[in-house]
Amino acid sequence: MVGGKTENCGMNGEKFYITTPIYYVNDKPHIGHAYTTIAADTLARWHAAEGDNVFFLTGVDENAQKTVDAAKKTGEEIHAYTDRLAALWQSTWEKLGISNTDFIRTTEERHVAVVKDFWRRLEAAGDIYRGEYRGLYCKGHEAFLKEDELVDGLCPDHKTAPELVVEENYFFRLSKYQKALLELYEENPDFVAPAHRFNEIKSFVERGLEDVSFSREKRDWGIPVPDDPGQVIYVWADALVNYISAVGIEWWEEHPADMHVMAKDIARFHAVIWPAMLMSAGLPLPGQIVVHGFFTLNGTKISKSLGNTIDPLDVAARYGADGLRYFLLREIPFGADGDFSEAKLRERYNGDLANGLGNFAARVLALAAKEESLPALGAEGAGAPDNEFAGVIEDTRRAVRAKLVALKFPEALAAVWEVISFGDRYVNEKKVWEINDDAARRAALANLTALLGAVGDMLAPFLPDASQKIKAALVREGDTVRAVKIEPLFPRAK
Ligand SMILES: [Zn+2]
Repeated sequence: MVGGKTENCGMNGEKFYITTPIYYVNDKPHIGHAYTTIAADTLARWHAAEGDNVFFLTGVDENAQKTVDAAKKTGEEIHAYTDRLAALWQSTWEKLGISNTDFIRTTEERHVAVVKDFWRRLEAAGDIYRGEYRGLYCKGHEAFLKEDELVDGLCPDHKTAPELVVEENYFFRLSKYQKALLELYEENPDFVAPAHRFNEIKSFVERGLEDVSFSREKRDWGIPVPDDPGQVIYVWADALVNYISAVGIEWWEEHPADMHVMAKDIARFHAVIWPAMLMSAGLPLPGQIVVHGFFTLNGTKISKSLGNTIDPLDVAARYGADGLRYFLLREIPFGADGDFSEAKLRERYNGDLANGLGNFAARVLALAAKEESLPALGAEGAGAPDNEFAGVIEDTRRAVRAKLVALKFPEALAAVWEVISFGDRYVNEKKVWEINDDAARRAALANLTALLGAVGDMLAPFLPDASQKIKAALVREGDTVRAVKIEPLFPRAK
């Protein structure tokens, strides 16, 4: 029942379906959204480079009450508001080099139709029933709060006591799936990664599951419950279904998502409610739920009310999309909480990118551009890249692949930077710029251009822009390569 596994991907054009969550449009993207999406993009690009036929989905959740509130605040008509926000999210991803294949909005007809169909499947399975919902409603939020969100019985943001609201709505029989979920976890030890997040999920389910409310009394926004227009479908039964509605039920039956990437706050919904919904609907389950942590800013919590949110586009404007991508992927162990600090970003940028990769590429290309074309990696005969270099390149490729399978982005990048250092040492030890013997100098430069080309390839999933520039500067013609000098890849940041 469980979908494809990362380890099985290969050069055979197999489908690889990866998703980010759909994000609320009550605001523009912040650094946490950028991190989720960049991590998913890196995996998507890597699978594509490995020969998989990748479908990479992201999108926005527009059906929430939060959307109505946010539109009210700006004074815009709600459809005009959602159109503007959806376009803003899409253009942000374009600017950050995100290679998504599709972008879904939950107000689209293709989504609404599948949500209703999905609801009917749960109903036909006998898993939807009417019940009494009791919730703590905060008027300031215009939303229900959870007991554990209250501080001394008050809403922490509005400092008021929420009102107990009792309403009739529809419930999903989640409790029925406890045993099946525990079996799923038992049979699929990688169903949730990393392992410590999986352990949290397992113990949550082991403690017992309560049925969940799947609808709310009619509001003027959201998808109505089929045959009961007095109720609208609540978030889980709506938003999670986007993973199917983007590709269609037939596609999902044949190839469910291989990987859902997200932050830890929604891991439980994806690893517990979502598979139970799919079991109820008689549909196959996703392959893996991949979970990362939260961000702090210079060690402090990031929140709208503290006014310290970070706009990823501001950062990208100063350090490039690749500069932002590099910092997030290199600095934060995937799965752990991470700290965003511009001082640390600048240090990484100047140290690893401007001085490291940028300087190495500039040196090699400047020296190699003075030569006629050089033998490329894989060429035979005298002057071709030697076995030591070919071996180092192959070992690095293998290391990067193994680290990516294990979701260890920092280690994968560290492996590439090791090979860059190896190349730098070679330039210095050989004093390549001083070698007068033509054959010896050309042989050294064949090694170095082969290494730089391989670095460009290996960085494609992480730093698409820099990778593209490196590859364009090494023009391959049959068994030879001609180097072209380039502008600095990463001008030093002040
Ligand atoms: Zn409140």
